[in-house]
Amino acid sequence: MLVFKFGGASVKDAGGIINLASVVKKYEGEQLLIVVSAMGKTTNALEKLTKAYVDQTDDMHHIFNGIKQYHFDILHELFENNHTIFDEVANTFVEIDWAIEDAPHDSYDFIYDQIVSIGELVSTRIVSAYLNKAGIKSQWLDVRGYIHTDNTYREGLVQWDKTRESISKDIPAMLAEGAVVTQGFLGGTSENFTTTLGREGSDYTASIFASCLGAGSVTTWKDVPGILNADPKFFANTVKFDELSYSEAIEMTYYGASVIHPKTIKPLQNARIPLLVKPFTDPGAPGTVIKEDGINKFEKPVIILKQNQVLLSISSKDYSFITEDHLSEIFGLFAQSQVKVNVMQTSALSFSVCFDFYEERFEKLLTNLKQEFKVKYNSDLTLITIRHYAENSLKELTAGKTILLEQISRNTAQVVVK
Ligand code: ASP
Ligand code: MG
Repeated sequence: MLVFKFGGASVKDAGGIINLASVVKKYEGEQLLIVVSAMGKTTNALEKLTKAYVDQTDDMHHIFNGIKQYHFDILHELFENNHTIFDEVANTFVEIDWAIEDAPHDSYDFIYDQIVSIGELVSTRIVSAYLNKAGIKSQWLDVRGYIHTDNTYREGLVQWDKTRESISKDIPAMLAEGAVVTQGFLGGTSENFTTTLGREGSDYTASIFASCLGAGSVTTWKDVPGILNADPKFFANTVKFDELSYSEAIEMTYYGASVIHPKTIKPLQNARIPLLVKPFTDPGAPGTVIKEDGINKFEKPVIILKQNQVLLSISSKDYSFITEDHLSEIFGLFAQSQVKVNVMQTSALSFSVCFDFYEERFEKLLTNLKQEFKVKYNSDLTLITIRHYAENSLKELTAGKTILLEQISRNTAQVVVK
């Protein structure tokens, strides 16, 4: 059996969904499990809605109506007015009405997961209904009963044993009946609350299913020809890799290459399942294959940009050195605030850390750190990572920019710039 993952860009409009069906049709006769993300920029819009609800701002209903309108416009292009999908989608959105009815009292991350998850619950309903309409037999699966997580909201930790058991119990029989369409990015807790697996987590979902079902491969269908050496949104003359090894792919995602979710590779590597990254506009094209013995040829350096970074430096209040015991306390506070370190550097009197800016987590971290330490920070920075770099590529990329931190090892250069 094969696992397919379609990201938000591939289902951003009616044309995308029609195209998805035509890609799937090419695989007639294969058992397919299809993981789908929220449509277009829906997750971002639902994040805005969550914030508006928690802050109780006036634009809350306006944002929500926009999200509904976007989906219903697409439905009208794809289905006759009397199709049951209209009610299914409306009923799914009602969950949000319930969630935002009363004043917020739960934690931000909990509320986030209950609201933001609706994006995938709706998109998969639409895709599954459309496949059936297009003559491809498909069943909609609520992933929350299969991918079990703890209750770390926004970053659900997968409980593998339980997940493997649920998936292997029911899914093979369903696959024998037709395609199974399910939500990326979501999980469920033992109390039946919804969790999410971290932004862009649908790739990870695909890899969890593939691992539990012993899939022949996972294909993630994207709006790029495969894995490129840099993001074409920011760089001209990018080159595509035909093959990559699992380890190079892990390194790239570790440094923030957004083409695959960082947790995706490990389960696939462990089960030796290849990951194909292919263009949904040209399904016959080879794309990039990530596999055990993938060949890494780097004619050009790999460039990874991470924006919206904070560089924070921590020093002790009494001019004492930053030593191991300080560091373990500092790391403890980072872990408690769920802030993940992208780069760090120590000197005698200070410890500098670069990480992604998430307002809530950042505020929490700052409050905790300030009780013991002196803290200074710069925000709105970019972290540039260059793998397999040449001297000139580093110079070119940082020309005219203020470098706030630089770290160079044999294969990888990292700079934080303003
Ligand atoms: N819809 C989620 C996001 O945009 C998950 C995904 O696309 O993989 O982060
Ligand atoms: Mg996405």
